[in-house]
Amino acid sequence: MAAKPKRCKVLMLSLICAALLSVSALTTASDLTWDESGYVLYCPCMGRFGNQVDHFLGSLAFAKALNRTLAVPPWIIYRHHAPPYTNVHIPYSEYFKLEPLKQYHRVVSLEDFMAHLAPAHWPLGQRTAYCFESAVQRSTDKKSCPMKDGNPFGPFWDHVGVDFDHSVPFGGLSFSSYYIPHWIKRFPPAEHPVLAMPGAPAQFPVLEEHISLQRYVVWADMIVEDGEKHISTLLPRPYVGIHLRIGSDWQNACKLLQSGDAGPHFMASPQCVGYDRQTALPLTFTMCLPDLAEILRAVKLWVKKTKAQSVYIATDSESHSTDIEKAFKGKVKVVSLRPDVAQLDLYILGQADHFIGNCVSSFSAFVKRERDMHGRPSSFFGMDYPGKKKKDEL
Ligand code: GDP
Ligand code: MN
Repeated sequence: MAAKPKRCKVLMLSLICAALLSVSALTTASDLTWDESGYVLYCPCMGRFGNQVDHFLGSLAFAKALNRTLAVPPWIIYRHHAPPYTNVHIPYSEYFKLEPLKQYHRVVSLEDFMAHLAPAHWPLGQRTAYCFESAVQRSTDKKSCPMKDGNPFGPFWDHVGVDFDHSVPFGGLSFSSYYIPHWIKRFPPAEHPVLAMPGAPAQFPVLEEHISLQRYVVWADMIVEDGEKHISTLLPRPYVGIHLRIGSDWQNACKLLQSGDAGPHFMASPQCVGYDRQTALPLTFTMCLPDLAEILRAVKLWVKKTKAQSVYIATDSESHSTDIEKAFKGKVKVVSLRPDVAQLDLYILGQADHFIGNCVSSFSAFVKRERDMHGRPSSFFGMDYPGKKKKDEL
């Protein structure tokens, strides 16, 4: 593993400092008034960051459709490989600004909701959980919603200081837009002010109609500053950013595609094969797990096309930086930071002059959506021109 530049550690520390500082700048109780239209609370309990963002976009849309304020949860970061060797809960505002979300819909951070609204309006003893009947069947007592059963569920609600007192199981509903009127009729806010759920009221991957909500997910100043510093000191433009999702967990996931009869939709793949199953392009094994030959082919193609001076490699494991350097005979600068804070990789990939992502990865999907919002070009390993049938049809 390449030595980690000191800067990455500095970012980690400064994020912690910002968290401490922001405590003093926390919204005061008087800024927050109770919303009679009610609230949606959920745990981002499925998957890591990319999955959580997909779910966040859908949950934001769900809260708006129900005309309830969304309590924006912290991100759950799984730090089991490094200190503190457990889940860490990072406030939304540490990575992104809360303010721009308000252009779309009413939001409050879950932390502020708990500190300033819950004591009076969602008091101890009156905290109801809402979940699918099928989830109740899976719970330990077979009677209540499994809000705190296991990891990350228990640690999440413990982190925000919530125990649940009652359960309201529901059936015959889903989170798709078709059911919105049913939700509104079933749970009027006067009787059900706080809809707290064990998982996101959203689908994975994000629905096509919610992709554009990415525009309201705006990086916090600290991430921008740090990212820009790295870009200006390390990455002469134009630069190509690539996301290598090739670690052992991913190798296992992609094996499911090897038989060839899995169909085009697999995890985040609708982003490149298309959302419509009828017209979706084929999803190949290489698109899920590019080998070194494919990585080199795609990088060479886009370095040439964009006349890139440097290549930035974000990776979940190996960087292949030596092989990539060799491919350009040292004429192109190759950089891989392997930052402690994965969001720094996301930021740098988002700013690249061209991005090559992994079609199946929701981590790549974050970058692709953000770049699309700003009109920046992207492609995928195994697919140079997403959305186009074949190169020669261009
Ligand atoms: P997906 O599994 O690829 O759909 O994306 P997720 O975000 O759900 O899970 C992958 C996780 O692996 C990320 O959240 C990161 O923690 C880590 N990861 C994957 N790729 C990279 C990368 O390029 N850089 C860094 N720093 N972390 C990565
Ligand atoms: Mn994942």
